[in-house]
Amino acid sequence: MRKEALFYEKNGETARCGLCPRMCAIHEGQTGFCSTRSNSGGILFAENYGRISSIALDPIEKKPLKRFFPGSAILSAGSYGCNMACAFCQNFSISQMKPRTDFLPPEKLLEAALSIPENLGVAFTYNEPFTSVEYILDVASLIRKHGLKTVLVTNGMIMEKPLSALLPLVDAMNIDLKAFSCEFYQRHGGSLETVKKTIEICAKSVHVEITTLIVPGENDGEKEMDELSAWLASVPSASGGIPLHITRFFPHFKMQDKQPTPVKTIFSLVERARQRLRYVYAGNVN
Ligand code: SF4
Repeated sequence: MRKEALFYEKNGETARCGLCPRMCAIHEGQTGFCSTRSNSGGILFAENYGRISSIALDPIEKKPLKRFFPGSAILSAGSYGCNMACAFCQNFSISQMKPRTDFLPPEKLLEAALSIPENLGVAFTYNEPFTSVEYILDVASLIRKHGLKTVLVTNGMIMEKPLSALLPLVDAMNIDLKAFSCEFYQRHGGSLETVKKTIEICAKSVHVEITTLIVPGENDGEKEMDELSAWLASVPSASGGIPLHITRFFPHFKMQDKQPTPVKTIFSLVERARQRLRYVYAGNVN
């Protein structure tokens, strides 16, 4: 099924996508940076609408969300594509490549979510969910009517207009704060300022937790963690303090030459962050 994208403007035969700060100008027959939106006859299509590459029932702690219905399980679905290009991507086979997908209409995903006893809802995860905004809006409004929750696991790279459309239908988010350096974000195709803004906006109205994946030599400095945790502590939050997950990197994608992050580095950064934040968790250390 081909679905027209939301959040774009036509300029003659060119479509300018307004979903994320890349603002791709997409010409006839071309696809945007994230590989999910294409221009056909001046119309921008969300090619990934309902295209599911992976689906599984996961513990909510795996998202990771530690302080949102702990102990529950959530049906987790991923599509393909991403609007960043992290050299260390831990899910590159679906974010940076086009995997095999199956079409799952919103009603079918609802049916699957309802068929699992005690399932919390649907988490959009594995690749960047903001590139599936049209599908998430359709699914989230359906599942809310049935008392289920919508969770997003995201890099935070989205413009304010689409974010405002999504937020009333979202219950919880895990947002990556990949580093606290503009240069780092530039190197990996993102924008620190955009991600900070997304976190500030979301934390006001939904449950938000943050993940920082520590890559040796890239973002493992103590000063950087001091700055990151001090800023996070200053962000007003609807749920009384934003939890931070500091997690281990394993060699993937274009960073096969690096060693996994030493466990002692993770625990040392966790200790530093705990000087400012109430809830700090070490991830992937077992
Ligand atoms: S969502 Fe995709 S097509 Fe749209 S601006 Fe971002 S990278 Fe470009």
